[in-house]
Amino acid sequence: MNTVESQVQAPENLALVLNSGSSSIKFQLVDPKKHATDEPFASGLVEQIGEKQGTVTLKFGGEKYTTSAPIPDHSAGLDMAFALMGEHGCGLEDVHISAVGHRVVHGGVLFSQPVIITDEVLGMVRDLIPLAPLHNPANIDGIEVARNLLSDVPHVAVFDTGFFSTVPPAAAVYAINAEVAAEHGVRRYGFHGTSHEYVSQHIPELLGKPADEVNQITLHLGNGASASAIRGGMAVDTSMGMTPLAGLVMGTRSGDVDPGIIFHLHRSAGMSIDEIDQLLNRSSGVKGISGVNDFRELDQLIEQGDQDAWLAYNIYIHQLRRYIGSYMVALGRVDAITFTAGVGENAPNVRADALANLEQLGIKIDPERNSLPNNGAREISTDDSKIKVFVVPTNEELAIARYAMKLAAEA
Ligand code: ADP
Repeated sequence: MNTVESQVQAPENLALVLNSGSSSIKFQLVDPKKHATDEPFASGLVEQIGEKQGTVTLKFGGEKYTTSAPIPDHSAGLDMAFALMGEHGCGLEDVHISAVGHRVVHGGVLFSQPVIITDEVLGMVRDLIPLAPLHNPANIDGIEVARNLLSDVPHVAVFDTGFFSTVPPAAAVYAINAEVAAEHGVRRYGFHGTSHEYVSQHIPELLGKPADEVNQITLHLGNGASASAIRGGMAVDTSMGMTPLAGLVMGTRSGDVDPGIIFHLHRSAGMSIDEIDQLLNRSSGVKGISGVNDFRELDQLIEQGDQDAWLAYNIYIHQLRRYIGSYMVALGRVDAITFTAGVGENAPNVRADALANLEQLGIKIDPERNSLPNNGAREISTDDSKIKVFVVPTNEELAIARYAMKLAAEA
């Protein structure tokens, strides 16, 4: 053990937070009592599970460590992650894990709140696989592997859809044949719920108003992007739908398109359903128009005079403004609009353009406040802006860790 590592004191009660994808596992060891801007105690990523060569990366004590080897499945991946953590002083022998929090993408209409994972709960998450065929199986793999490895610790599932269980039928039900919709679980579920909830909870304090009196719009703009309208702490609308493909233009996802396009591409262009799925999810959005999905690269291209990049940016902003406008009408009175996630926290141009020329509606961005670097929760509107505009960094892992610890303590 080197000096840096030996100086790191393991807190008494850590939560392990796992976000399992089809070929990756993101993990964090989090002290739920820490401040939102503090680095997690340790964090890392298992990548390329099932491929020829996989990698495990660990960040701990200010250092970064990597190992590479074939990782046949999630079980091997988590074993390797714990082995790497053990080598560097933050393994299962060194830290006390009191709860494990799992991000689960789809809770359907079965789960509106985080729950302690039992065999029955796991069975229900399995029943929801048809609604999230790519995500829920990976989440289940992660849960099963972690429950085996840490069998005497409570495991908690936190659902991406949970926060949107309050969206009323007028906003959640699609205007399609009711019998077909009911039979196949077709309705708006919404995603990124943990982030919208976490960020929105900061706003009443920033406004100095009771939480049940605050109407707000939250904009989670990362690689995926979504908007939500929240009245008195309860979500009343959100831009993602039955799947995360709907709503805003995203890094690689189209967001809302005319559903007739899908029939056209299938019938006239001869594309298979899987090809269209791939097209709309992976090679559309900002990337589909400009060739890049990262806003830092997009900005560079725009600076170089690239017309496609400029168009992609304008389509992105136009769609964002559509949603902001519709949620202002849905809420009637809006107290705050908040930006979060990679783009929302770091791209002042996106924030300024999303809310430009809305003085008549009571929104005024302060250019100086808006241009300050990302540095915790902050207001970016002028003092006389009727609707306050904030940037609040999201921290889904911390939110999951807190839920996991709370439910574990109650168990
Ligand atoms: P995810 O949705 O995958 O969790 P993030 O919320 O981390 O993603 O957002 C990632 C995106 O944030 C990147 O693809 C990039 O477009 C954008 N981003 C990150 N840092 C910056 C920055 N400094 N300036 C502009 N955009 C940024």
